[in-house]
Amino acid sequence: MNNFFSDFFRSHCIKGFLAHEEGIALYEHARRVAGVGPCLEIGSYCGKSSVYLGVACREMGNTLYAVDHHRGSEEHQPGEEYHDRTLFDARVQRMDSFPAFRHTLALAKLEETVVPVVASSALTLRHWQTPLGLVFIDGGHSPAMAMADATGWAAKLAPGGILCIHDIFESPNDGGQGPFLAMQAVLATGRFTTLRQVQTMAVLERRR
Ligand code: SAH
Ligand code: MG
Repeated sequence: MNNFFSDFFRSHCIKGFLAHEEGIALYEHARRVAGVGPCLEIGSYCGKSSVYLGVACREMGNTLYAVDHHRGSEEHQPGEEYHDRTLFDARVQRMDSFPAFRHTLALAKLEETVVPVVASSALTLRHWQTPLGLVFIDGGHSPAMAMADATGWAAKLAPGGILCIHDIFESPNDGGQGPFLAMQAVLATGRFTTLRQVQTMAVLERRR
C-alpha cells in the first residue's frame, strides 16, 4: 500500500499539507475501524488526506465524509503565507479548493466512497447523529476553532473510535498551540487514551 500511495502522489501532484508517514497512519487506522463506524475528516483542502482515508474506506466497504467549506483557513487567504492564487475564485473573491478536491477524488476513483460535505465544521456538527469510527481534525488551527472541532467531534465517536489531530506542536516555538491545547482538552475528559504520535499527528482512542 505504501507503494500505491507513493506512485499515486508521484504521478499526480496533489497540493496539500500532510506527510506521507502521517497519511499511511491514517490509512492503517481507517482500515482498522471499519467495523466501528464511518470516517470523517475536517479540512480536506485538495484531497491529500482524503486519498489515504478514502482508499482505506473503499477497501473496507466503509464511507468517508470529507468536510470542508473550501474557503480556506486563515493562512490560505490572499496575502497570507499559504495563499495559492490558482485556488482563488475571482468571481466571488473567495478561495475555492472544491474543484481541485473533486478532481483528486476522480483521479483516485473515490467518488463512490467519499461524500464531500461543502460546509463548515460547525454547520455539519449541528445535526450530526451517526457514531463515527474515525475522525481526522485538520481544519481551522486557531485555538478557538481547533478546540471547537476537537471537542465537538470527539463527542461523536463510537466507543473504540479513533481521533486523529493534525499539527500538534508542544512548544510554541515549533507552531501554533491550538491543536495541542485542543488535544489536551479531549484527554482531560478521561474518555480518551493516546495511542501514538506520527510526526505532528496525534492518534487517540475513545475508551470502550
Ligand atoms: N487535510 C488537508 C489539509 C487541510 S488545510 C491535506 O491533507 O492536505 C485546512 C482546510 O480546512 C482548508 O481547506 C480550509 O478550507 C478548511 N477549514 C478551515 N476551517 C474550517 C471550518 N471551520 N470548517 C470546515 N473546513 C474548514
Ligand atoms: Mg494540517
